[in-house]
Amino acid sequence: MKLTIAVHGGAGTILKQDMTPELEQSYKQGLREALLAGYAVLEKNGFAMDAVIAASVVLEDNILFNAGRGSVFTKRGSHEMDASIMNGINLSAGAVCGVHNVRNPIKLAAAVMQHSDHVILSGDGAEEFARKENLQFEQDEYFFSEFRYDQWKAIRDTDEYALDHSGIETDKLFENKFGTIGAVACDMYGNIAAATSTGGMTNKNYGRIGDTPLIGCGTYANNKTCAISCTGHGELFIKAVAAYDVSCLMEYAHMNLHDSMNKVVNEKLVAINGEGGMIGVDAQGNFALLFNCDGMYRGVKTSEGFEEVKIYR
Ligand code: ASP
Repeated sequence: MKLTIAVHGGAGTILKQDMTPELEQSYKQGLREALLAGYAVLEKNGFAMDAVIAASVVLEDNILFNAGRGSVFTKRGSHEMDASIMNGINLSAGAVCGVHNVRNPIKLAAAVMQHSDHVILSGDGAEEFARKENLQFEQDEYFFSEFRYDQWKAIRDTDEYALDHSGIETDKLFENKFGTIGAVACDMYGNIAAATSTGGMTNKNYGRIGDTPLIGCGTYANNKTCAISCTGHGELFIKAVAAYDVSCLMEYAHMNLHDSMNKVVNEKLVAINGEGGMIGVDAQGNFALLFNCDGMYRGVKTSEGFEEVKIYR
């Protein structure tokens, strides 16, 4: 059985001319570390579910990516994080939204899936559950990054909200750049899983929930079809029910993974101005990493020796 792990670190107007060689290297290094962490689980005959958690934790701990530690600032100047995870074996799923100070929201989403009768927990209730689960909390300072603070300062007195990686010049704020992290994997048993985690959008209204914690929108996994993790303008991914739509095209229209993802990313989302992308695997270990904007931080590694980390088109 072919082992596959793929990760993303957000998509949007990511242009080579806006990047220094050092920063580019740091992003690629971060993606590589996540791939290695996920692949190490698969290689030891581990489950896809554990591989996507391992890869996501590495990305959440990396300040460059808008999830966990590197989460953007909300209108209130705080960090509100969303995450979800789904296991293709049995459709079990867990998600959290609007959580503060939890070091790894993806671990909390996994705990909701594994140790509660619920699928989604939000805010205080999710944090109380995290304490019961003995998950790690961090002080506000842990989540502070100068770049994102400046990004927020530039618009905090306005009603604008911005996608991560956006330039801080106000007229450029809507040059859509997105942040979020995600992982999908296929293990030696032919099980697939998907995980997605985000800080959302800079200066977002407090209480705003995007596609990331919504099963079927930002994340979906079913061994019969595919495992998908999305990144992009969440409101549009919700309207498109993007991740589940890929699964439906595979299940009901008998299309393959790549063509199904292509239809959703490059036709259906484009038709409603839904900028962004997604990564996906199927239970044969096939993969696709597609986006309809300038770039997506992304990487993939398989047991057939294929390894690739890319940013631009
Ligand atoms: N989809 C995420 C959200 O809308 C943001 C992103 O992927 O950058 O919260």
